[in-house]
Amino acid sequence: MNLHEYQSKGRFARFGIPVILGKVATSPQEAYEIARELGGTVVVKSQVLTGGRGKAGGVKLARTTEEAEQVANQILGMSIKGLPVRKVLIDPAANIGTEIYLGVTNDRAAGKPVMMASSEGGVEIEQVAHDKPEAIIREHIDPFLGLRDYQARNLASGINLPREHWRAFTKIAHGLYQTYLNTDAVLAEINPLVITREGQLIALDGKISIDDNALFRQPELAEMRDIEAEPKEVVHARAAGLSYVKLDGQIGCMVNGAGLAMTTMDMIKLYGGDEVGPANFLDIGGGAQADKVAVALRIILSDPGVRSVLFNIFGGITRCDEVARGILQALGEVSTNVPMVIRLNGTNAAEGRAIIDSANIPNLTSAETLTEAAQKAVDAAKQAMRAN
Ligand code: GDP
Ligand code: MN
Repeated sequence: MNLHEYQSKGRFARFGIPVILGKVATSPQEAYEIARELGGTVVVKSQVLTGGRGKAGGVKLARTTEEAEQVANQILGMSIKGLPVRKVLIDPAANIGTEIYLGVTNDRAAGKPVMMASSEGGVEIEQVAHDKPEAIIREHIDPFLGLRDYQARNLASGINLPREHWRAFTKIAHGLYQTYLNTDAVLAEINPLVITREGQLIALDGKISIDDNALFRQPELAEMRDIEAEPKEVVHARAAGLSYVKLDGQIGCMVNGAGLAMTTMDMIKLYGGDEVGPANFLDIGGGAQADKVAVALRIILSDPGVRSVLFNIFGGITRCDEVARGILQALGEVSTNVPMVIRLNGTNAAEGRAIIDSANIPNLTSAETLTEAAQKAVDAAKQAMRAN
């Protein structure tokens, strides 16, 4: 679960990180009032659960209250990466000198948290990792020792931060690590952490991603979930108890079991190469009933990027006939001509296949093996892409 910028900065403040935090508005009139209260130049910032708002025109300065109202009106009508803007944060504007990046996340390979700093702040860190990997300095944190002062200094010196800011930087690094620990975050980042022209270090933007598996012990954070701001398919998937992650490929996958889902994605990558890839990770879980399968298929088909669908079901606790019924149920509600490939194996596979066969769906073909299924789904996606 991701927190909004204003929620993240609110948490940062609790752990001693200096932030600029105004108020949230849901209408231009409210923005006007807040701007008047704050006085001076403000920055109007779209609150959507995605990065790159600045580049998309979702972060704008306003010098007067009227301008704040105007700009808020503009931004509240926007959609950023498919997410409609329903709230804007009105902050007193900062006088930016330098923009830095500071973040902490889980390094799964190392089995430890890692703190990262970069002099290339204000740009998405993935972009920096791609274009200028040497500009990212890392310090792994021993979970038993916590972040040590010398590590914060290593980061400061690694990004050539002037000495006079090291003390403030170290304090912020500790605050960020505390935020990360206390919120059960998988990511806590400040981007940009700015040095103002007045010489102060301030967190101007914040992002906290909380580990969904820890939400049960973070009731206060769980309360902060903004369902309106989440992509619809994510909300539907969660309500149905599906593990769903959207990716940017063309083949929609419906699989039971996380390991099998990973394998299926690997097989698609193997045969799809650079041309086509998986459109999502979707695990319907063990013992899924027809209803859940139908929700899953509707989610897959609602992705406009999907060119073919691959069902890969290994019936253990899950019964293949239930899955087959779910597929037919969903196809009864949403008609589609997207080509689909199905592989059913294991418990009640013969019954499942019989159900599918008797339904006579022209755009659905079956496959015996995963290799065959992946190849067919890749071919179908490529054909559909050429036809468009
Ligand atoms: P993001 O694009 O979604 O990461 O949104 P940010 O909150 O990081 O804002 C993007 C950029 O807008 C920052 O990197 C700054 O360059 C700029 N910006 C944000 N707040 C202010 C401000 O108060 N004053 C000025 N001058 N620029 C700002
Ligand atoms: Mn940012």
